[in-house]
Amino acid sequence: MFSYTEIRQMVKDISDAAKKSKNAELLSQTFELQGTFLDLMSENQDLKDQVRDLKDQLANLSQQKVDRDMLVKFHDMFVDKDMLQTIKSTSVPFSDEMLEHMYCSKCLQEKDSMISMNVLRPVESDSYTLICPSCGYMVYFGKDPNRGRVSFF
Ligand SMILES: [Zn+2]
Repeated sequence: MFSYTEIRQMVKDISDAAKKSKNAELLSQTFELQGTFLDLMSENQDLKDQVRDLKDQLANLSQQKVDRDMLVKFHDMFVDKDMLQTIKSTSVPFSDEMLEHMYCSKCLQEKDSMISMNVLRPVESDSYTLICPSCGYMVYFGKDPNRGRVSFF
């Protein structure tokens, strides 16, 4: 394997030799070679950037690895266990701070990712709807929400 610096020097040497030779075809092929070399260098940089981005994403994913023991089911969502009582005793609309602890059950079960629910606007007078910003999964609350359905995940 040659390093980029070595290859760059080789391309330059070939280019110098081609100029000296005054052979038009050789010169044009040398320009092509230089172009290809520059393309490869730029492609290599792009790939390096992509690898770095993927590594970052991977690090983020493992950081937010789901700890299922800390979750309980509530209204077809999952909520942080230590927030369950607070959430159960709060009437709708939920605050943003509260919503942060309420996760889409579809994303959790299918993609293993914890996506906090959003409020679907406009809020209708007789119902209150939460929506997952990632997959669109919705959870409805009626006027008198049944808050008894709590099961452990
Ligand atoms: Zn979702």
